[in-house]
Amino acid sequence: MPMPMQTFSQELHVKILMIGNSSVGKSSLLMRWSENQWLPEDETSATIGVEVRRRKLDVRGENDTAGEEQFRTMQSAHYRGAQGIMLVYDASCRQSFDELTRWFKEIDRYVTGPVVKVIVGNKVDKEFQRQVPAAEAAVFAEKMGCRFIETSAKTTVGVRKTFRDMVERIVGNPELRIVSKPSPPQASFARPRAPSFLNY
Ligand code: GDP
Repeated sequence: MPMPMQTFSQELHVKILMIGNSSVGKSSLLMRWSENQWLPEDETSATIGVEVRRRKLDVRGENDTAGEEQFRTMQSAHYRGAQGIMLVYDASCRQSFDELTRWFKEIDRYVTGPVVKVIVGNKVDKEFQRQVPAAEAAVFAEKMGCRFIETSAKTTVGVRKTFRDMVERIVGNPELRIVSKPSPPQASFARPRAPSFLNY
């Protein structure tokens, strides 16, 4: 007599951090991926990244040692437990690409364990204003030992692939500790928690 087969699925929680200069499109990428929404350019200040951004700026404004110390504590809290980091720049803004080196330094400073990194060149819909050739970014990504992908939160290009690749690489990496909890059968999905943002 055939045994009834029961399928179990697990809900996996991963922590992904999105970092990069202000206005490169981190909130927009998240909105596009999680809600499939695009907020018109003048309405993005209402998105969830704003709160974190504002608080971070306040702390940075203090020049005394205590403020600096508090800033560092906050930074390391953001990075703690991250299994994936997206380094986002704006392909139509050279400065946001050039400053990725600063973001890599910050990762070196705050991340001690293994972490999956990907460089994300956003806003590729603005092709006529492009300031960073894809080939140049690909060479840089290779040098830094991470993957590179181009996206547009506006047109959706590359957005699902970026998040899917990230999750798959985290889940497939035995060095990264994944928090899992049993979930009811048939509810099989792996979905990251809302990424946090860091920019200043
Ligand atoms: P954040 O500060 O990195 O979170 O950036 P936001 O998501 O707030 O986006 C900053 C500005 O860039 C907003 O006006 C967005 O509408 C715009 N933006 C974000 N992603 C794209 C994109 O892919 N293409 C274009 N054209 N504009 C974008």
